[in-house]
Amino acid sequence: MMDNKADPKGILAVGEITAGTLSPISLELLGMGQKLAQARGEELSVVLIDRQAENCAQEAIAHGADRVYLITDAPADQYEGASCTAILENLCTQTIKPAVVLFGQTVTGRDLAPRLAFRLKAGLVTDCLHLDIDPDSRNLIATKPVSGGNVLATYSLQEGVPQMASLRHRAFDAPEPDAHRQGEVLPLPAGVDASAVQAKLMEKVLEETSEGPTLETAEIVVSGGRGLDDLEEFDKYITKGLAEVLGAAVGATRGAVDGGLQPEQHQIGLTGKIVGPKLYIAVGVSGAIQHMAGCSGAKNIVAINIDENAQIFRFAKFGIVGSYKEVLPTLIEKLKELELS
Ligand SMILES: Cc1cc2nc3c(=O)[nH]c(=O)nc-3n(C[C@H](O)[C@H](O)[C@H](O)COP(=O)(O)OP(=O)(O)OC[C@H]3O[C@@H](n4cnc5c(N)ncnc54)[C@H](O)[C@@H]3O)c2cc1C
Repeated sequence: MMDNKADPKGILAVGEITAGTLSPISLELLGMGQKLAQARGEELSVVLIDRQAENCAQEAIAHGADRVYLITDAPADQYEGASCTAILENLCTQTIKPAVVLFGQTVTGRDLAPRLAFRLKAGLVTDCLHLDIDPDSRNLIATKPVSGGNVLATYSLQEGVPQMASLRHRAFDAPEPDAHRQGEVLPLPAGVDASAVQAKLMEKVLEETSEGPTLETAEIVVSGGRGLDDLEEFDKYITKGLAEVLGAAVGATRGAVDGGLQPEQHQIGLTGKIVGPKLYIAVGVSGAIQHMAGCSGAKNIVAINIDENAQIFRFAKFGIVGSYKEVLPTLIEKLKELELS
């Protein structure tokens, strides 16, 4: 089945496991991967590099994988860039030889994809919002935001293998699982030893977690900007106000972070997190391109701003001109009434 001389073929998703299950972005990779595989008339595989990989094999098959490669003997217990790159390099050149490799635009994907692309001299488009296959050339076509999110650029990857892309969270739908789907599960040796490991994890500090959904996976995000007066107001109107009543994750602009209204890990934007919720509510946010780079993938943007000329209204589907102090109490009250009824 694994012919070393065979032409590159098939789509390979690099899956990630969180808390014993496939991470949401891995399911989104499978959804997109299946479409690309169909367009190329080929199969979709997923590779899981994790001691517990076996536990997630059926989940991957139910979500569209035709084949699951399990690597449970990587030399490092946790993700380590150099050794994982070496493992994937072997898979791409020796064993699996995929035509297309997909990553999530996650902490791991951001580290691993460029390393592998460099090693293989392969083309890589990061942070994609859309992927397709050119029907004539069968090459991967990848669309991503550039210029701080103001422009969408579409790239056609050139022949030469594999063609690689990383996918933004929530830009792609996860497929509905089908428990009856059949697939192949293949354990593979890592093929690298401890000498491939170049970094050692010294300490892991858990981010201060707030209750509720995380920014990366939330369906609704409520973000506050410098327009909020102070920390107390941010807490009252955003964290314990609109976000709580909607069950939303809390985001912030750099203006708000610099002003001490929120910790840095809540920052959305070019130098912060990238989110793609169904609903993004921006309160007291001017709409600077560096901020929009992190939320332009949201399906719907709603803005509340006192300045009718604020740039955020150019991006918003719905806008309310007014002070948050007047708009939010009524809105929160109405939402609570709806929740009760
Ligand atoms: C290299 C670089 C990287 C950057 N990366 C990021 C990034 O990742 N994320 C990010 O967010 N920014 C980033 N920035 C900063 C960015 O350019 C903006 O300065 C920042 O986003 C502005 O934050 P803001 O909208 O909260 O503040 P402001 O621009 O000050 O806007 C505040 C808004 O609140 C409104 N307002 C005031 N009072 C009220 C009220 N009572 N009710 C309702 N609205 C009110 C005002 O009309 C105004 O529109 C970056 C900048 C650079 C140069």
